[in-house]
Amino acid sequence: MKKILDTDKTGVSIIAFGAYLPDSHIEEFRQRANSNIRRIVGGLMLTDAIPSITYHLYPDVETKLAETGEDANGHVDRETGDIFIVYNGTVKCDGPHELVHLLTKHLGYSNLVLGEGLAEYFEENWNGEESDGSRLRLPHDDWVRRFIADGSYIPICALFDDNEFWELDEEGMVSYPESASFFRYLVVTYGMERMLNLYSSFGRRAPEGVPYERFEEHLGISVEQAEIDWLNFLHCP
Ligand SMILES: [Zn+2]
Repeated sequence: MKKILDTDKTGVSIIAFGAYLPDSHIEEFRQRANSNIRRIVGGLMLTDAIPSITYHLYPDVETKLAETGEDANGHVDRETGDIFIVYNGTVKCDGPHELVHLLTKHLGYSNLVLGEGLAEYFEENWNGEESDGSRLRLPHDDWVRRFIADGSYIPICALFDDNEFWELDEEGMVSYPESASFFRYLVVTYGMERMLNLYSSFGRRAPEGVPYERFEEHLGISVEQAEIDWLNFLHCP
């Protein structure tokens, strides 16, 4: 059941497809979205006008799949400015992640590690899953330390190949927080400007192959060595 909750005056509209968002929470939702937009604009040094954005909220991934044909918890349409997210008591994908995908249209697509790494860079925590199925919010770096400790760590070098990314981790519960932590380390070490140049220098499933050489051209270090440096930075053995 489609219900238009609010049409915009500040550039953010919200449509709830049966997702629970009471009237009293709408203003807060919009303020959060606008504050995330401001952070992203500042962090990525964006100068273009921000497009109007419409949020489509679904109570669960099944409803979202039925309505949109996409079974991820969140996705965007960069052409129309639409953000489609699952929004319920446990999963609320209204953070910066999807906004980053939307607001980086001018950068094109990068490979999945950098693409999801950049989108997660503005999120403070990853909403992960414990082995008993319960959810837990922790910083990306802490998740990486846990993956190393429990043996579920997936080498970034392998994830760097877009053809392997989903093969190695169907749900993205390891690859996403790892990509985010890796991306943050690279920004701290090499600066956001260089990272954005690197980001836009290769596309999704780059036809010339896995962009290991491009990485080295831009940062002067191999992906392999950067991965070792990053894990040292996190104090991981
Ligand atoms: Zn994403």
